[in-house]
Amino acid sequence: MGNDGAPIWSIERNANSTSAQERARLLENPAFGRVFTDHMATIRYAEGRGWHDAKIGPRQSLALDPSTLVLHYAQEIFEGMKAYRLPDGGAALFRPEANARRFQHSARRLAMAPLPEALFLESVRELVRVDRDWIPAGEGSALYLRPFMIATEVLLGVKPSAEYLYGVIAAPVGAYFKGSSPAVTIWVSDTYTRAAPGGTGDAKCGGNYAASLAAQAEATREGCDQVVFLDAVERRWVEELGGMNVFFVFDDGSLQTPPLSGTILPGITRDSLITLARGMGLEVREAPYSIDDWQADAASGRLREAFACGTAAVVTPIGQVKGRRHAFTIGDGGAGAVTARLKAALLDIQQGRAPDAHGWMDRLF
Ligand SMILES: *Cc1c(COP(=O)(O)O)cnc(C)c1O
Repeated sequence: MGNDGAPIWSIERNANSTSAQERARLLENPAFGRVFTDHMATIRYAEGRGWHDAKIGPRQSLALDPSTLVLHYAQEIFEGMKAYRLPDGGAALFRPEANARRFQHSARRLAMAPLPEALFLESVRELVRVDRDWIPAGEGSALYLRPFMIATEVLLGVKPSAEYLYGVIAAPVGAYFKGSSPAVTIWVSDTYTRAAPGGTGDAKCGGNYAASLAAQAEATREGCDQVVFLDAVERRWVEELGGMNVFFVFDDGSLQTPPLSGTILPGITRDSLITLARGMGLEVREAPYSIDDWQADAASGRLREAFACGTAAVVTPIGQVKGRRHAFTIGDGGAGAVTARLKAALLDIQQGRAPDAHGWMDRLF
């Protein structure tokens, strides 16, 4: 422990690090989430002892006793963020404090120990510095960072774990879509919902994703790319996709996105796009929008564009919507102009091509 009570980081270089030649080959065209860097960050927590053993070390397997709590009762949360290569060769994170705060919020909802924001930030910054050669430079490329935390007490009992393992791994990623993003077709699920009032919809936990997989499989069977969820009470209000928030663009140039009602994940991309759109003089409403209005407005032409957004794919145009009671095309079914403009504005800041007017970039080196 340091004298302020915070753990001191120990840094152990991976003796078997990937060769420069092999790394260059891997960075050429990394498939999302399949190529990883040489190191990982870990911190342990134990009740009575607090956070300890903060380490940057070689990326390696975890050994878990078969009765480790997370394997049975799914006390697990995570984050998703990116480090961007800047034009001068440096690198920066995008709004990492927002991820740190959301990680604490998720921890509290899952009755886990909230990791202090400073430790979260140090873990991510240190890992990126050690694995700095893994940050790709191409348009839309970045080093994707995955902080996560699992319950590690060895016990078959339903209660909050007394021990946790926090970790960060990193994966170089290319643009989710090469060139301009193709519009996706989404499936309106009336079989499944994602989150109910009072549930875990606004926490970033693996359980939400596990529960969305059957709906995603249904969407795939119906020939769609993604699923869009309606609210669990009235089955009427559009909430979000399995892992992305959603925006609507109207013929008067205004935008609308579902409000953070507690059943929607508060996306940092969502929040950033609201700020950027308002900065362009566009009106943005955070207000409920029903699936029936979406269909009627798409048919009348009042609705011009729709898009999904999140850290991984940034901004993805929605071209068509299908469901048992719905089938409609938005605009001409392709990427709209407002969608493209917002995406470019965000990427220009993240990749260091535009001034950082909002102080979002966290420069690492
Ligand atoms: C992570 C996530 C998002 C997007 O959040 P960003 O901070 O923009 O990456 C949206 N919906 C769900 C369910 C998520 O897990």
